[in-house]
Amino acid sequence: MKRILLCAFWAALLAPARELDRVERLLEELTNAPGPSGFEGPVRAVVRRELSPLASPLETDGLGSLIATLPGSSGAPRIMMAAHLDELGMLVKYVTPEGFVKFQTLGGWLDQGLINQRFVILTSKGAVEGVTGLKTPHIMAPEERTSLVKRDRIFIDVGAASRQDAEERLGIRPGDPIAPDSRFAVLNDGRVYLAKAWDDRVGLGVMIEVMRRLKASSPPNSVYAVATVQEEIGLRGAHTSSYQVKPDIGISIEAGVAADYPGISRDEAQERLGGGPGIFLHDSSMLPNLKLRDFVVEVARQLKIPVQFEVLSGYGEDGAEMQRAYSGAPSINITVPVRYLHNHNGIIQRDDFDRAVELITGLIRRLDAATVRRLKSFE
Ligand SMILES: [Zn+2]
Repeated sequence: MKRILLCAFWAALLAPARELDRVERLLEELTNAPGPSGFEGPVRAVVRRELSPLASPLETDGLGSLIATLPGSSGAPRIMMAAHLDELGMLVKYVTPEGFVKFQTLGGWLDQGLINQRFVILTSKGAVEGVTGLKTPHIMAPEERTSLVKRDRIFIDVGAASRQDAEERLGIRPGDPIAPDSRFAVLNDGRVYLAKAWDDRVGLGVMIEVMRRLKASSPPNSVYAVATVQEEIGLRGAHTSSYQVKPDIGISIEAGVAADYPGISRDEAQERLGGGPGIFLHDSSMLPNLKLRDFVVEVARQLKIPVQFEVLSGYGEDGAEMQRAYSGAPSINITVPVRYLHNHNGIIQRDDFDRAVELITGLIRRLDAATVRRLKSFE
């Protein structure tokens, strides 16, 4: 009897929840795909497949950013959206004689976020699973148990017997990319989603959905949906792609910083899940154009979309590169709030996603030549 009850319990727990809708399937595919900075190929392939029926041409620049053009009813103004393909990752530095993998981090990791997590190493022979090993507390001195572990002591255990085994059997070579291993889930069957790499796969998801809507009704401008590379290591892809697109207006679509859980204060960040898209007023890379900021707020008011404001002292984003290309362009960063950024598991809320899509679609539909001329003027 006991056994039957237990089995029923696990069956219910493990049964697939409801069927995922189109957006959820897209977000699942985008977040599960591995794409550390400089190794964005698998994510780019998903974005390319989604955008190819919506835009023409689809090109890559010399660094690998994907640029999808949707010519509207007019060649100008040129509206550039940017969301980045890359996520935090690492690459193989060397393999120890005992077969453990030492790595170089790519992007802003917390040392504590690296510990005892699953990773995949993307080798020429395929994906190799591993885990960052950590000493057991049984043998630690009391002060060691509460101390922080520095990243230079962390390694990946792939179950290899030796360096030769790791290199020859598993195909691990210096320079191979390493991505976090964490799967998408609809959290407890609700409107909250759990996954890795929301930064910035949520931005890519929003950008794809915006393009789907814009395609259905020709916008009064030319739209460039740009999936950038190497954002996490210094906005490198947005730099080259902004020079290729030469935007009149730049719209960065990003993962915002939610501050609605224990241990974080309003002084650190101001967004919360369910409060609508975030509009950045300050980060360490960019100040938004003030007329464009006010225009976005006005569009949100017309569309009855709640928005939140964000003032961060750190954080960089692709808007900074769009803003500074050539002689400069009004730019803004619009976000979907995310909890626990830059870790193996983050959380977003579906309404925030849908509202960000609505807001950016409505914004681009209103960016005609006269409006953009007014926004660009400092007279
Ligand atoms: Zn980002």
